[in-house]
Amino acid sequence: MSALDLDFMRKVANVPRGRGVLLCIQCGRCSGSCPIARLVTDHNPRRLMEMVILGLRSEVLLQGLPWYCLSCFTCLDRCPQGGDVGEVMFAIRNLAAKERNIPAGVVAQARSLIDTGRVVNPVKSILNKRKSLGLAEIAPTGVEDVKKILKRTALDRLIRSR
Ligand code: SF4
Ligand code: SF4
Repeated sequence: MSALDLDFMRKVANVPRGRGVLLCIQCGRCSGSCPIARLVTDHNPRRLMEMVILGLRSEVLLQGLPWYCLSCFTCLDRCPQGGDVGEVMFAIRNLAAKERNIPAGVVAQARSLIDTGRVVNPVKSILNKRKSLGLAEIAPTGVEDVKKILKRTALDRLIRSR
């Protein structure tokens, strides 16, 4: 185990959307109702909150733990404290991304967003089908607006450097 960062909870709480971690009482209702926790044994939102509270910074930010969440927000409905883990997950991901911990699939989606204005683009078979049906080609959309937003957030540089 790496050295504890006793300031880690405050750092997460100070990232936009991260304040919910301050409310957590470790009841476990989020883990009990999380659909991903049923499928992925590594994903346990209560445990992730505990790791943040304890200051296990490296274990949280340098591994895959923040990236399993589906952002379904069931935990928001279930948390007795209103401490939405799904929102805190965004704060943790922002910190993880600064450490260059971004899964390849997320990088690919971000690149697609920068290049085409879409996170998900149709696969070749769909494009061929559209062509055979005489449908118009799918053009990039809103790319200039997306680029402006990503430049302001510096996400474009982060993604291009990967
Ligand atoms: S449901 Fe809320 S209070 Fe309970 S462990 Fe999850 S985040 Fe913490
Ligand atoms: S938002 Fe994430 S952590 Fe919360 S229930 Fe959905 S998948 Fe689980």
